[in-house]
Amino acid sequence: MLEGYAEYYSVELSQKIRRGNNESRRKGNLTGGKLPYGYKNVDKKAVIIPEHAEVIRYIYDRYSIGVFVKDIIAELTSKGIMYNGKPFAQNTIYNILKNERYSGIYRFNGEVFDNIYPQIVDTETFNKVREKVNANKFGKRSEEITYLLKDKIVCGYCGKSIIGENGTARNGERKYYYKCCGRKKKTTDCNKQAVRKEVLEKIVLDCVIEQIQKTNNLDYIVNCLMQEQQRQSQANVVLNLLLKEQHTTENSINNIMTAIENGGTTNTAMKRIRELETRQAELERQILIEKSKTAVQLTETQIREFYLQALALEPKLLINYVVKQIVLFDDRIEIQFNSPIMESPDNRGFLLCEKSVKLAYKVPHRAEITKLEFEIELYV
Ligand SMILES: [Zn+2]
Repeated sequence: MLEGYAEYYSVELSQKIRRGNNESRRKGNLTGGKLPYGYKNVDKKAVIIPEHAEVIRYIYDRYSIGVFVKDIIAELTSKGIMYNGKPFAQNTIYNILKNERYSGIYRFNGEVFDNIYPQIVDTETFNKVREKVNANKFGKRSEEITYLLKDKIVCGYCGKSIIGENGTARNGERKYYYKCCGRKKKTTDCNKQAVRKEVLEKIVLDCVIEQIQKTNNLDYIVNCLMQEQQRQSQANVVLNLLLKEQHTTENSINNIMTAIENGGTTNTAMKRIRELETRQAELERQILIEKSKTAVQLTETQIREFYLQALALEPKLLINYVVKQIVLFDDRIEIQFNSPIMESPDNRGFLLCEKSVKLAYKVPHRAEITKLEFEIELYV
């Protein structure tokens, strides 16, 4: 009761504080806490520090035309512009590039305040930069870009791996491709064209998701997995051996007990019984462990959910788990699927469709890739 009251009291108190702070925010006042670079606190109001604002705008302008963060830092340092007496750190630059307050907007608990921080960066530039930062997730450089199909994809012409590659367009925009390794390293005389990363990934993901979500395909996968699960639990060799030993141990104990009842006690018999009883206890423990292992079984619904929802939301998992190999040609893609009952890819694929299917894919609204009307062939 007392504890409950203390909890209620502190919740109420913190709500009061929160209400008070929101009142202040609505009046455009600061509510404590450290101010971001570029502002100072004058009578509870955020006021722009002009020389810092100039640096912030410089950083936004350079980044928005594609200058790398490390180069922006070098430029600032060469002009003698420092941050707390030291050259700017990469993280500091990214924090500046991501801070919405510079565009005059401050969000708190779902409320938007546009009267607290005077604007330093115009909204258009801020949005452009934000898109760029988001495209390079966490503001990292292109090297950290994830090529989803990596390790699974080979060239249909020379058989070499297809690897990730990037380049910078004249306007500074970074572009990402899948390119034949044989062609790139000139180890083969392959002429396979490079394909835009996002285009190829979308085609493959869309196709794989569409296929595994088809009722007859999903039914097949679920059945395979259910049967395999059953087979494994029946074939739990360890458990069967333990159960067998438990049975013989019990019999032995009974036999000795009968012998003792009929003909008096011997030390050897008593010693033997104690040994058997110790063993019996240990067997019971191990049997419990083995039974709990086989008891953890997936239901049909869980398997369906995994394929219909989880995998579709996790592209990397989807590709790793479901796809065995992707063979890329200039005009078609072959997607080979893993057997659903295999933990790691092996030579066995599985039957997804009764016969191979040809699908033409085209990503709409992208003039530059209209030539990429891939045909997709699915293989067993
Ligand atoms: Zn090739």
